[in-house]
Amino acid sequence: MTNIGPIPLPAPGAAHSGYFTFEDELLAKYQWPYFAVVGREPGLTFLLTAGIHAAEYTGTLAALRLAKLLDPHHVTGTIVIIPLLNRPGFYERSVYTNPEDGQNLNRAFPGDANGTWSERFAYHLLHDVVLNVQRAMDLHAGDMVEDLEPFLGYLMTGNPEVDDRSREMIAAYAGARWVTHVIPGGERAGMLYGAAAQNGVPAILAESGGRGLPIEEDVQRHVDGVLNIWRTLGLLTDSPPQPSRTPTVIARNEWLRSPHEGIFLCRVKPGDNVSAGESLGELVDLLGNHLMTVTAPAAGVILFTVTSPAIKKDGLLLAVGVPE
Ligand SMILES: [Zn+2]
Repeated sequence: MTNIGPIPLPAPGAAHSGYFTFEDELLAKYQWPYFAVVGREPGLTFLLTAGIHAAEYTGTLAALRLAKLLDPHHVTGTIVIIPLLNRPGFYERSVYTNPEDGQNLNRAFPGDANGTWSERFAYHLLHDVVLNVQRAMDLHAGDMVEDLEPFLGYLMTGNPEVDDRSREMIAAYAGARWVTHVIPGGERAGMLYGAAAQNGVPAILAESGGRGLPIEEDVQRHVDGVLNIWRTLGLLTDSPPQPSRTPTVIARNEWLRSPHEGIFLCRVKPGDNVSAGESLGELVDLLGNHLMTVTAPAAGVILFTVTSPAIKKDGLLLAVGVPE
């Protein structure tokens, strides 16, 4: 194999890095950074991505650190790292969206070759890159205006060959207490890891950190999680894997959105346990008058909160994970 779609691979036993672009007139105005490492012995092909949400810096920084750590002499198979997917949004410090069309790139999959910028990007990333690898992992954090409890996600497809392999990666990450395996309540599908799994590529998402802060502990959690996945899968042979730890399964992931525009006075923090009907915060208008009390739809754990109090109508407030 000499390339994975638009990404050239080095010879066996070598590593290289550079920039690539896609064969599409709208996408081609950007160059994406990548790293590729090919071991001397053949094995799995693993794709690590980050920064599909441009201000989720812990993922991008962890991907860059992992790329620098890799020594091809200790790699079996092929590892490709794309540390920043939302290339248009990075220097714009975009929150949630892609400035080319205002869409959320992680709701645009499987995409459309003749669609908007985001739909074209999703189409080409999925078909040209993701469907040519055997495992995929996408690093996230809470966005610039979100704080979160570390958690993992995969999409249960019903195909055990895919789901068991996704769960193997989930258990090997070892650094998060929670895992979700369904589309969050009230959200559209269209996420990268979900589209990969539905097309037969075992894939997971990992969340660590947030608020736009490159906190060392949050970056290193991702680094340690990915290294242990690579060691567990036999891609990295420098030392044996640590024992896997299956996180608690979140049966329902309730994302609460605001029916009003207003100011959100949040009373909980990520990791808090809440009971059904418990007050989680208050929405007030621009005169400070009460609009509504936000309550927990069920007992569970707060997976993330929005840290900015400025909330548009239908804006996201927080997520309650409801354990099985
Ligand atoms: Zn994200």
